Amino acid sequence: MIKQFFIGCLLVGFIANCQAGVVAQRWAKITQPTQGVAQSIGSYTAGCLSGAAILPTDGTGYQVMRLSRKRFYGHPTLTHFIENLGQSSYTQQLGTILVGDLGQPRGGPTVSGHRSHTSGLDVDMWFLLSPEAANRPLTNAEREKWSAPSVLLGHSDDIDLRHWSIANEQILELAANMPEVDRIFVNPSIKRHLCNQAGGKRDWLRKIRPWYKHDDHFHVRLKCPTDSKDCENQEPLPQGDGCDAKLAWWFTREAKNPPPSPITEPVEPILPIACDAVLKQ
Ligand SMILES: [Zn+2]
Repeated sequence: MIKQFFIGCLLVGFIANCQAGVVAQRWAKITQPTQGVAQSIGSYTAGCLSGAAILPTDGTGYQVMRLSRKRFYGHPTLTHFIENLGQSSYTQQLGTILVGDLGQPRGGPTVSGHRSHTSGLDVDMWFLLSPEAANRPLTNAEREKWSAPSVLLGHSDDIDLRHWSIANEQILELAANMPEVDRIFVNPSIKRHLCNQAGGKRDWLRKIRPWYKHDDHFHVRLKCPTDSKDCENQEPLPQGDGCDAKLAWWFTREAKNPPPSPITEPVEPILPIACDAVLKQ
């Protein structure tokens, strides 16, 4: 498998990406979590996870999508967070949360899809949320084939109200108000929409962070659990609700045409030493 991957890499010629791929291949091959007390190790983009919990594929108010990817492992704080948010969504009749990727059985870098999600504290959730959308258990085929629709109108910066509802706003507010949540990444247009819609209660907007893409799902990142001593938090969030000039920047020409990243940029994540033991157990 690795050999085949390398041949593909040489043909394509992106050696740096290939090295990252080789590291990720090792983590992708692991099918079981380690036993013992859960520990998130390292950073969100260069970390790993021991003692992972499995998120049940169906729970009150949520369903896990893309089961074939087997990315339903996380720190127990993350699986509990999803279960609690699902419960709230059900109780408040906001609809069913469709859950995308958490992490791999032992975290680590992935071969596809993500630069983060390595330490068991990140989860993607689709914006597709309505009582009608998933009012029954979806079949495995549906979970593989359904795609998350963009909530943007065409390629514009406007929200497509056919794919957006007050339930989306409420679920984001519920999630942001949960103390274990560090931040939530959404498309800048979504952040702007939330800023415009919010009334007096605006504290929760601080955790809603504009980021590239994220127009068909939102990405929840939890804080390091206090007993994960080797877990690295991200830098603290700036003060304020973030509905200011920094948000306006995302709609400038500069933001929309980022310079190409230099080829020499290292892309292979350097994991903490403690992750070697997690991989080898
Ligand atoms: Zn994500």
